Amino acid sequence: RVPVTALLKRPVDLIVRPDHAHHAKIPLPGDLFAPERHNSAGIEFGERAALDRLLADVKAATPDLKRVANATSDQAGAAIAAARAGFAGWSRTPAGTRAAALEQAAHLLESRGAHFIALLQAEGGKTLDDALSELREAADFCRYYAAQGRKLFGGETAMPGPTGESNALAMRGRGVFVAISPWNFPLAIFLGQVTAALMAGNSVVAKPAEQTPRIAREAVALLHEAGIPKTALHLVTGDGRIGAALTAHPDIAGVVFTGSTEVARHINRTLAAKDGPIVPLIAETGGINAMIADATALPEQVADDVVTSAFRSAGQRCSALRLLFVQEDVADRMIEMIAGAARELRIGDPAEVATHVGPVIDAEAKQRLDAHIARMKMEARLHFAGIAPEGCFVAPHIFELRDASQLTEEVFGPILHVVRYRAETLARVLQAIERTGYGLTLGIHSRIDDTVEAIIDRVQIGNIYVNRNMIGAVVGVQPFGGNGLSGTGPKAGGPHYLTRFATEQTVTINT
Ligand code: NAP
Repeated sequence: RVPVTALLKRPVDLIVRPDHAHHAKIPLPGDLFAPERHNSAGIEFGERAALDRLLADVKAATPDLKRVANATSDQAGAAIAAARAGFAGWSRTPAGTRAAALEQAAHLLESRGAHFIALLQAEGGKTLDDALSELREAADFCRYYAAQGRKLFGGETAMPGPTGESNALAMRGRGVFVAISPWNFPLAIFLGQVTAALMAGNSVVAKPAEQTPRIAREAVALLHEAGIPKTALHLVTGDGRIGAALTAHPDIAGVVFTGSTEVARHINRTLAAKDGPIVPLIAETGGINAMIADATALPEQVADDVVTSAFRSAGQRCSALRLLFVQEDVADRMIEMIAGAARELRIGDPAEVATHVGPVIDAEAKQRLDAHIARMKMEARLHFAGIAPEGCFVAPHIFELRDASQLTEEVFGPILHVVRYRAETLARVLQAIERTGYGLTLGIHSRIDDTVEAIIDRVQIGNIYVNRNMIGAVVGVQPFGGNGLSGTGPKAGGPHYLTRFATEQTVTINT
């Protein structure tokens, strides 16, 4: 029924190269931030009809938005016990069978694309653009981890050596993995965590954010339908208290968490305080992400990339740009161009195809962001303020700070902070970035190779984007994750991710 596959098709070179067989770069038909990229991403004008059909199907979809009950801590405990019982069977299921279930999940996601897009819009406030790219990312995670898992868990690795014995190394699941995810990528991050843990042979208890339980419920149902046994995957809905109960449980073997640094610390302390085995934590957290634009950068490109990086998804991406350092000599002109580009953004109903900036996730988030804007109006120079409609909307704002230290925490919304610097004080810019303690993403706009190389060499940042925007890491191509306050690694969508979910066993036989 859903003609979404036409819109999800892969660019030819990516289909034929086996290394990239998992990866399908999605065309972004609603991407009005960068219309010139439509064609390079694979969509052609002839596909307009497919887009229209998709839009009609998204409109016709009626996702189940009934309230989802929160679990009690007894139910959370029961889910862990059931997952524990399910571990033995699932961990012994051949890696090929586990991978095939994930591949089937990717297929089901794509074939029900319109349904999931409608759900992402209704529950997550996603624009069409964002919903499409999230759907693509979710399917990519399933395929990529399936492909990686076939290699890593397909059999033992013989370890030749001088001992005169047979030595073999095998990887297997750890036990019950708790997967705790945020609301801002309620499908892709939720599925990315869960499929990685399952592929490595763990059973899983997943807790989505309290704002997005319906998407999680449907994702779990889809995985069960795709072949993941119900005993191996359990969903527990509820707020942070349920997350806390799960992580404090004595019978868990690992935690994968994506969310704020503060909650990651809390989980880390909970795990450290437990008796019994040492439980690993994989945490991917926030950032005060910067971009540096020097006087050699192309102003039009900077404006386009800054607006995309700071305001797309209403700034509710962990990778989003928060702090722009502009070289003094070109600052006035660049700020004016960025404000001009921001003025063109349409803010409103995410179901409208022309909308660039949808709502923020809830009233609490809006309140926090409004309070930050009010503070900035007193402490910084306002260069631009968009106009938001009534409701849970926050318009893009641009403030100029005297000093980067005025921004002390991650502000998770469409608010850009600009700081001017002089060429001779670039080192101080890098110190300011380092002082934040975060290390998630960094943008660099410069046409001087030495400058770019020197910056890359100096910073400890997980994902660096040069002369482009700094969001939208592609699974399997741009492994994603940060350092310091931004996370523990390994990188999601990268070749080392699954190994952290597994234990290794070496068997030595005296032959
Ligand atoms: P959050 O408040 O930290 O919540 C994340 C998850 O943790 C939610 O499911 C939350 O449940 C749960 N939780 C809250 N308190 C808990 C506790 N004491 N023990 C266990 N679990 C607990 O983050 P968010 O507001 O959902 O998401 C935004 C944050 O995520 C931003 O900081 C963003 O930068 C970060 N993020 C990072 C990445 C990355 O890859 N590095 C990707 C996306 C987002 P409830 O929501 O139900 O309270």
